[in-house]
Amino acid sequence: MTDRTDPTDLADLTDHLAAARAADASDPLAGYRTRFAGIDDGSSDVVAYLDGNSLGRPTRASIDRIQRFLVEGWGNRLIRGWDEEWMELPFTIGDAIADTVLGAAHGQTFIGDSTTVLLYKLARAAVDARPGRTEIVVDTDNFPTDRYVLDGIARERGLTLRWIQADTEAGVTPEQVAEVVGPETALVVLSHVAYRSGFLADVPAITRIAHDAGALVLWDLCHSVGSVPLELDAWGVDVAVGCTYKYLNGGPGSPAFGYVRADLQGELTQPIQGWMSAADVFLMGPEFQPATGARRYLSGTPAIVGMLAMQDTVAMIAECGMDAVRAKSIALTEFAIALTDDWLRPLGVTVASPRDAERRGGHVTVNHPAMREVTALLWERDVIPDFRDPNGLRIGLSPLSTSFEETYLGVAAIRDALGDLTNE
Ligand SMILES: *Cc1c(COP(=O)(O)O)cnc(C)c1O
Repeated sequence: MTDRTDPTDLADLTDHLAAARAADASDPLAGYRTRFAGIDDGSSDVVAYLDGNSLGRPTRASIDRIQRFLVEGWGNRLIRGWDEEWMELPFTIGDAIADTVLGAAHGQTFIGDSTTVLLYKLARAAVDARPGRTEIVVDTDNFPTDRYVLDGIARERGLTLRWIQADTEAGVTPEQVAEVVGPETALVVLSHVAYRSGFLADVPAITRIAHDAGALVLWDLCHSVGSVPLELDAWGVDVAVGCTYKYLNGGPGSPAFGYVRADLQGELTQPIQGWMSAADVFLMGPEFQPATGARRYLSGTPAIVGMLAMQDTVAMIAECGMDAVRAKSIALTEFAIALTDDWLRPLGVTVASPRDAERRGGHVTVNHPAMREVTALLWERDVIPDFRDPNGLRIGLSPLSTSFEETYLGVAAIRDALGDLTNE
């Protein structure tokens, strides 16, 4: 670490640390932090984890749950588990997610494949439900998998991608959507929270604009679910997908959830019709008959082990409520921005996320030409943010597992690493 002798620096350090500790002391969610593995148990050398928006931490409850599952659920029940519980698990967990974080009635949400595969299935279903329309609207800064999948669907179906030029330090506005949608638009695909800038899109306004043009909208909720309150039913959302290994702590590769509004389920037919999407799974008849309801969006055998852990985070959020999660998320990102302004701005760093908390999700991106090297150095120092091209360092702040002091330590380490690299 750099030797700091400048008295103004020391004053800053003390003030910010005192502020962080005071915020932790009065944080109503502070107690949730110790429910995560690797925190205060001596098992982890991580000083500050700032990447829960890419891979959330495991909960202690999930360690118990998975262990019990291996011994009792799988080890003892064996194949009987399918009839007893597992066949319904994609829908019981889907409904719990719907209740707790999506603002959605039962019967519309399910645990499916990876986000990428689910995005393909549901986007294909949506464009096929708008025959004769030739365009899919997507923004240039949407997550790569979203853009690549849509490019593939466009080629497969003879459609055209209509690009919205997104500001990489903000995101897509209702006005931009209004400019490009029209009678040719089959589907609009956007992210609720932009993965790069953290910009929070106006879902109800954009959905209304697309509907007025006769188009469907697919919302990617990967970076908002479990961090930003959602009201999918009230907002009139058609179709949505979201990650479960980010703010829902489902573990690496845990399967995504999908949402298809109840009144669209008869109309939206997905392309990977497997035995698990059939009306009667064990009839095994000569011809495919789709199930009614959300089961029609499954394909093959559900990933049961992968969907265990997310239940524990959903249960925690059911306990404290999404409003409390969002309030802490805003307080954490405000604190990170204040530290950035004070410590990093003089070093040439800029904030590449919205300053208006109303338009910001759960992470803050800070830009500097040296951020790739800074991130590598921080990982060596057990401080874990992530890097996104061209020069953004993302500070991801998971409200249930991140403390203000951890945020303080993280931003202080960014400052020190940047100082060490630029003074070399
Ligand atoms: C994380 C993320 C994904 C990841 O998709 P996978 O299929 O799970 O790899 C997709 N879209 C967005 C917007 C994401 O943030």
